[in-house]
Amino acid sequence: MVTENSVLVFVELSAERAILPISLECVAAAGRLADSLGSRVLAVVMGNGVREAARELTHYDLAEVCLIDHPTLEHYQPELFLSAFLQVCECVKPKAVLMGDTLTTVDLAPRIAFNLDTGLITDCVAIESDKDEVCFLKPVYSSNVMAAYSFASEPWIVTLRSRVEEPGQRAEAPVGEVVSLDVEIDVAGTKTEVIQRVTEEDAGLKLTDAEVVVSGGRGIGGPEGFEQLSELAAILNGAVGASRPPVDLGWATPKAQVGQTGEKVAPTVYIAVGISGATQHVAGMQGSKTIVAVNKDPKANIFKIADYGVVGSCEEVIPSLKDALLEMRK
Ligand SMILES: Cc1cc2nc3c(=O)[nH]c(=O)nc-3n(C[C@H](O)[C@H](O)[C@H](O)COP(=O)(O)OP(=O)(O)OC[C@H]3O[C@@H](n4cnc5c(N)ncnc54)[C@H](O)[C@@H]3O)c2cc1C
Repeated sequence: MVTENSVLVFVELSAERAILPISLECVAAAGRLADSLGSRVLAVVMGNGVREAARELTHYDLAEVCLIDHPTLEHYQPELFLSAFLQVCECVKPKAVLMGDTLTTVDLAPRIAFNLDTGLITDCVAIESDKDEVCFLKPVYSSNVMAAYSFASEPWIVTLRSRVEEPGQRAEAPVGEVVSLDVEIDVAGTKTEVIQRVTEEDAGLKLTDAEVVVSGGRGIGGPEGFEQLSELAAILNGAVGASRPPVDLGWATPKAQVGQTGEKVAPTVYIAVGISGATQHVAGMQGSKTIVAVNKDPKANIFKIADYGVVGSCEEVIPSLKDALLEMRK
């Protein structure tokens, strides 16, 4: 097994055991980091019945894919996943561990760092390497400042924000190989028990996966405004987001909130409708490739970061935009 100085990627799977896009983004970032360290990238995939996902991973630029396939790892259970992952670290002794910044790693990454007595950098948006030092960048103070961190201990544990990297390229033929690891999983020794799992009803495309996000703010005026936005999003095959006031007012679900205390999104196109552009909102969407703003106030802050701006009321602009898009489709 390749071990020296390696960069280890923790790969996450969907309920259908498909590799999450963020994990492939981590593979790409890990590749560049490993190049700068003169090392190789390994991945670890754990779960129940996940061999196929491990095989699929061999088509990416990875030296080896460590597989832990065990019935007790069917669902994420903090203690079991932590124990399995620590055993992988014991075996691989990685220089760095890259994980997506997800609901699972928000729980798992600090446990790993604590157990390995090392540091953790969460929500990293870029990795900069030069000869002497590797820096991990993350936005702080509502994204008004970009902070650069480096580690004083090893392994480096880093969670990467979704969509700041292009996913790794899939090769036609397998590149690496799958290495099955036997780990001891002590179910009886766990202190926590999962009593119930509640799966939220899938309300269409996830905000963080969408190429187009159409978000509404207080200026949308009410739930009817969000119906208009949903129609617009459907035409664009996008997802509907919101600033915080519509969520607080019950016009949109909490899952739709974009910003400092909501989702961080970086779609190809972000359309902000009736949103003023407060720093707490901008913190969650400023990484979008193209920003379009619709606001009746020409002095609204959102125009400062918008690539395209429409000064007008959403009641007029949204129906016209929908009609124009439907016309283009014909
Ligand atoms: C700790 C903390 C965390 C926060 N986290 C978040 C967060 O995660 N996400 C978030 O979004 N906010 C967050 N906020 C709230 C944030 O500070 C702003 O209050 C919020 O983003 C404003 O939302 P808004 O732009 O929709 O509303 P407003 O600021 O009220 O702006 C409404 C805009 O709509 C325009 N408008 C009005 N009518 C129309 C119309 N008919 N047509 C077109 N435009 C119209 C107005 O010109 C205005 O620009 C947070 C605040 C705090 C203190």
